[in-house]
Amino acid sequence: MKQFTIGIDLGGTNIKAAIFNSDFKAVIEKSIPTEAAMGPKHVLDKIAKIIMDMIDTTKLSISDIKCMGMGIPGLLDPSEGVSIFSPNFPNWKDIHVINHMKTFFDFPIFIDNDVRVNLYGEWRYGSGIGYQNVVLITLGTGLGSGIINDGKVIYGKTSSAGEIGHMNMYREGRPCKCGSSGCLGRYVSAVGMVNTLIEKLNNGQRSIIQDWVGADLSTISAKMISEAYDLGDDVAIEVMHETGRILGFGLSNVINLLNPEVIIVGGGMSAAGDRLLNTVRETIANHALKLSSQACKIQQAQLGEKAGMIGAATYANERLN
Ligand SMILES: [Zn+2]
Repeated sequence: MKQFTIGIDLGGTNIKAAIFNSDFKAVIEKSIPTEAAMGPKHVLDKIAKIIMDMIDTTKLSISDIKCMGMGIPGLLDPSEGVSIFSPNFPNWKDIHVINHMKTFFDFPIFIDNDVRVNLYGEWRYGSGIGYQNVVLITLGTGLGSGIINDGKVIYGKTSSAGEIGHMNMYREGRPCKCGSSGCLGRYVSAVGMVNTLIEKLNNGQRSIIQDWVGADLSTISAKMISEAYDLGDDVAIEVMHETGRILGFGLSNVINLLNPEVIIVGGGMSAAGDRLLNTVRETIANHALKLSSQACKIQQAQLGEKAGMIGAATYANERLN
C-alpha cells in the first residue's frame, strides 16, 4: 500500500532526506554533502541515489511511496517544477528538477521554496498547529519567510510573495544582492548581526569576542554574540537589542499588513531565543497597530533541523490531496 512519503531538504551544504510513514514519523533519515560546485545534474543524481539507498535499506519498494516533496532555496516555479535561480548553487538556472527526477521515479513529485516547505511543516506539526494566519521567518545567512493568510499559503504571481527580507528599512543602507540597499535581511540575519558588531568594533568599541577571535574578525559568529551576551558583554547586548529593534519594526509592518495570529521565528539564529525576541516583542507592542499586535504571538519554531524534510513531505501530501 502506498503510505510512505519522501521529504528532501536541498541545502547549499547538505542534502537531507527522509522517508516518513503515514503518521509522519521518519522511518529513515540521511544527510550527505550537496557538492553544489559539481553542477545541477550531479546534485540531482545524488538525490536520486540517496532515495534509492533509503528505499533499499528500509526494504521498501518504489510502489510503497505515495509521493515526494523537495524544498529548494531560491526562486522557482512550483507548478512547472522548475528551479529558476538559486543563490548558493553555481550554474543553477532554469533547472527542470521534476522532469529530471521523473527519469528515476514514477511517483508524484512536488517542489517548492525551502522556507515555504518549512512553513507547511511548522503549520501541520510544529509551532503553527491550529492557526489560520501564520508568518514564518527563518534567520540564517539571510532572512526568508513564508505566509499563510486565512488558511491559505500565499504564492503571488511569480511565486515570490513574502520576501520580507527585502523589505526596505533604510533609504540608504547596506547594499543587498537583490540590487537594492537597506533591506531588512542585511541587518536581521546571522550575517547582518555579525556585521553590526564588526561596525561597532571598527568604530573603537571593545568586546570580549575580540579576546576569542584575535585580529581575525571574519571568524565571528552569531552564536558568539549570544555567548558574549550571556557574559554581560556591553557591545553584544547592544548588538542583540539593536537587531531585535530592527526586526521588531520590520515585523510591525508585517503585522499591520497581514494581521497574523502567530509569527514563528526559525533558522539557526533563532537559537538566540528571548535574548532577541524580547526586544522584538517590545518594539511590536510599541509600534504596530494595537488591535493587531495584541492578537499576534511571536514564538520560536519547533521542528529545528528536521523542518525542511518534514515540511517537504507535508507539502507533497497537501499538493496530492
Ligand atoms: Zn534586498
